[in-house]
Amino acid sequence: MRVIPFDNSYARLPGHFYARTPPTAVKKPHLVKVNEPLASLLGLDVAWLKSDEGVAVLAGNAVAEGSDPIALAYAGHQFGNFVPQLGDGRAILLGELVGTDGKRRDVQLKGSGPTPFSRRGDGRAALGPVLREYVVSEAMHAMGIPTTRALAAVTTGEHVHRERPQAGAVLTRIAGSHLRVGTFEYFAARSDFEAIDTLTRVALERHYPQVIDAPNAALALLECVVAAQAFLVARWLGVGFVHGVMNTDNTSISGETLDYGPCAFLDEYHPLKKFSSIDVNGRYAFMNQPKIAQWNLARLAETLLPLVDENQEAAVEQATATLKTFTTHFDEAFLGVMRAKIGLATEAAGDLALVMELLSRLAGSSVDYTIFFRRLCGGAESEKANAKTIAAMFEHEGAFFEWAERWHARLASEGCAGGVDAARMESMRKVNPAYIPRNHRLEEAIVAASEKDDFGPFEALVRVLARPYEEQVGEEWLAEAPKVEERVRATFCGT
Ligand code: AMP
Ligand code: MG
Repeated sequence: MRVIPFDNSYARLPGHFYARTPPTAVKKPHLVKVNEPLASLLGLDVAWLKSDEGVAVLAGNAVAEGSDPIALAYAGHQFGNFVPQLGDGRAILLGELVGTDGKRRDVQLKGSGPTPFSRRGDGRAALGPVLREYVVSEAMHAMGIPTTRALAAVTTGEHVHRERPQAGAVLTRIAGSHLRVGTFEYFAARSDFEAIDTLTRVALERHYPQVIDAPNAALALLECVVAAQAFLVARWLGVGFVHGVMNTDNTSISGETLDYGPCAFLDEYHPLKKFSSIDVNGRYAFMNQPKIAQWNLARLAETLLPLVDENQEAAVEQATATLKTFTTHFDEAFLGVMRAKIGLATEAAGDLALVMELLSRLAGSSVDYTIFFRRLCGGAESEKANAKTIAAMFEHEGAFFEWAERWHARLASEGCAGGVDAARMESMRKVNPAYIPRNHRLEEAIVAASEKDDFGPFEALVRVLARPYEEQVGEEWLAEAPKVEERVRATFCGT
């Protein structure tokens, strides 16, 4: 067996942080895909990964030398309710690799069999959710949004039993780390402050080394996570991403998008759009996401209180002040994202109002979020170019033209007289994707793979979404909005 230069720093932490658990072998592993650029970044040999031995490791049928497989302990608030023990019930950390860029990352199998944290679950994953996570996480990465990534997908030759039998699969997920708000909650629920102290140190070393020597480590960590989550959610809003299950166990300390269960992208814009079938009350609806992120961070803050200050009142005061900075960070990041989307290079007092006015008009006419902003890039180049086509997306042309008049006045204030500005158009195209993982295309790709063993549509999505900001001749069909009958109205966790 090949030696992989894993460094297992998490497995060297105290034993109650995890359960040592090997993956469970599957019947007939078959490689679906290896992410070659990512494999190279991790220093892995692509040819070996594709060999029988490599595929056996990716399926959990063999354990590479150097690996020390563990299932991580964590808790979490799910839809607002605290569950003191969740943990990796269907995931196993194989180890950590330091990439050619010097960054340490977790290599984790998802769907690799039961662990002591599985409760009543089978520890397995179905092919559909594995392909969804592969496509969407890689698309997020290509859009420049912090995220876990997909190294590989294999089918197992076994069925998993959900509402009906489905093909089983294993995803190899790569993450900056799998530290979650729920990891801290796990130990807080057990009043294990020593463990929280250890986790704080681990998190700072791994994700925020710039503040490792801060006088108050816990507060410094909270500040960093607050800022990272505010930035992350602002980026989600910029591309119309609805996470769908923002539980604290899915809220990463590194500020990466974590857990692609029932996630979806907006087609027609509406601030309260939700897709997840289990999110009955819309807790995790599109524009609720910043508020929920802050709520999740408050749960993190609570776990850190005893470390922030011995005096409880003083600790609460400091943590609360830090939590409040979420709003400042988020507002700034969101406005930055949206300014770039409408092509503004400078800051002016009325910008937020201009953005919110636009969003309200998009909602009023159920305009496709992605197509609108992509077309607007052309609208910046010339006042006339595209304007008619864009306006036709609204119920009444005036709904766009009225806003566009204010927008052009604002562009003119940046010295963009007459609206002609090729450079501005270019910069807008770098932030407004032409291609997102459209819900209906993803559904199609999953059905084709699961029911017809046809991985062509999945491959097409992976290929095109690797360059989301570029026009790609012949691939325009993947940029189109769904027809009414194609619209995906509900998504499922697929667990
Ligand atoms: P998720 O919905 O993926 O965030 O998972 C929430 C919790 O349920 C985590 O503790 C998972 O490990 C666990 N879980 C989800 N699906 C399964 C499964 N098929 N088998 C065992 N545990 C699972
Ligand atoms: Mg999860």
